[in-house]
Amino acid sequence: MLPSRATAPDPYVPHHGARDFVVDHYGLRLRYRVEPNRLEGVATLDVRALERLEDVHLDLVGLRVSRVEVDGERVRYAQKRHGLRVRTPRPLEAGGTATVEVSYAGNPSPAGGPWGDVGWEELSAGVLVAGQPTGAPTWFPCNDHPGYKATYDLTITTDSPYTVVANAPVHRVTRRASTRTWTFERTEPMCTYLATVQVGPYDTGRLGRHAHVARTADAADDVAHDLDRHDELFGLFEDLFGPYPFASYTVVVTPDDLEIPLEAHGASVFGANHLDGSRGSDRLVAHELAHQWFGNSVSVRTWRDIWLNEGFACYAEWLWAEASGGPDADDLAHEHHTRLAQLPQDLVLSDPGPELMFDDRVYKRGALTLHTLRLTLGDDAFFALLRTWTERHRHGHATTDDLRALVRESAGAAGSPAGAADDLLDRWLDETALPGLPARDAARRSIRGRAGRRP
Ligand SMILES: [Zn+2]
Repeated sequence: MLPSRATAPDPYVPHHGARDFVVDHYGLRLRYRVEPNRLEGVATLDVRALERLEDVHLDLVGLRVSRVEVDGERVRYAQKRHGLRVRTPRPLEAGGTATVEVSYAGNPSPAGGPWGDVGWEELSAGVLVAGQPTGAPTWFPCNDHPGYKATYDLTITTDSPYTVVANAPVHRVTRRASTRTWTFERTEPMCTYLATVQVGPYDTGRLGRHAHVARTADAADDVAHDLDRHDELFGLFEDLFGPYPFASYTVVVTPDDLEIPLEAHGASVFGANHLDGSRGSDRLVAHELAHQWFGNSVSVRTWRDIWLNEGFACYAEWLWAEASGGPDADDLAHEHHTRLAQLPQDLVLSDPGPELMFDDRVYKRGALTLHTLRLTLGDDAFFALLRTWTERHRHGHATTDDLRALVRESAGAAGSPAGAADDLLDRWLDETALPGLPARDAARRSIRGRAGRRP
């Protein structure tokens, strides 16, 4: 039997993930032919049992398995629509480890779900992978849940002259007559949904001092124009949130238009429409970069805490606006508060439910919660709290309760009563009615116009 809803680790994604084992490392060797959209892969998973188990259940969608080995021994397996059950040659006791190697192939395609199509998706030329929240099993077998992190080694061979961008710096490119093999450095620990490959007719180049960019040659000027303040953005976020958490950051601009940009570990993916020379997506560029700290390094343990990703990334947009000469965060907070007040107030931020987890109210109410916290604690304590948050949970997981505990600590250190901070979070996070905003206080705008100059 495949795991039932009762044994899945997260009620928001009841058919994904298993809780009796973790994968500590994924080694992925892939061969992808663009034109027929044909993927062949060998995935080597370092599995560690959390309890005694005789089967390892992996998520895999739309791809056919041809062979499975456990510790080098060929084993029996059963494949169903969303999963692969691997019989271990002998039971694994809690804490025991095994290497599971899965050979598979097929024509990958997105998986439909309540949040639209996610996963491996063909572009007009190439591929993008949109993993959030359940897209990873469309291209490799995995224990698909944000509550687990693993390191990854990825090697992918594809047709010349396509370029591949993934989650880590390129280690080596081997060229043959009609193919190139891209080997990437080992990643820091990451969630399955943040694993990605982006295949396209890209030219790559540096993006300021800190990042790289991958775009088609004809888009290069427009993209450079729209991202000309990227160094300032990057510098501001390092000042406010702490050191950038990963080995590299690449902005990918697909030749196709995209409805929304996507975040991945060490990369953000934009459509041609987002970076078209009109500088109309400054807000989104800030949002996606902020996810590297909030979501990708400090990750949710279960999806009910999605506001820890989206509320923080949304508030980062407002901070960038304030620091870069746009409207103050306080003005944006009042504008969005007025809008939210006109919408139905039936959403609980700390548990929005799977249907509403990507609702815009999660983003805006999350940002308003942080703004209220900033006004209550003061800028010094608030930004110190953000840096403690990203440092304490770097490359790990955190929950809303972890944030409550940190807010209590910070309030104590700032001389505010901890009870007041608790009440504030209770009202914003656990109740449906929209709380009022604190009075405007211009004196607290310590980051106004700060972008572009280091403190
Ligand atoms: Zn986001």
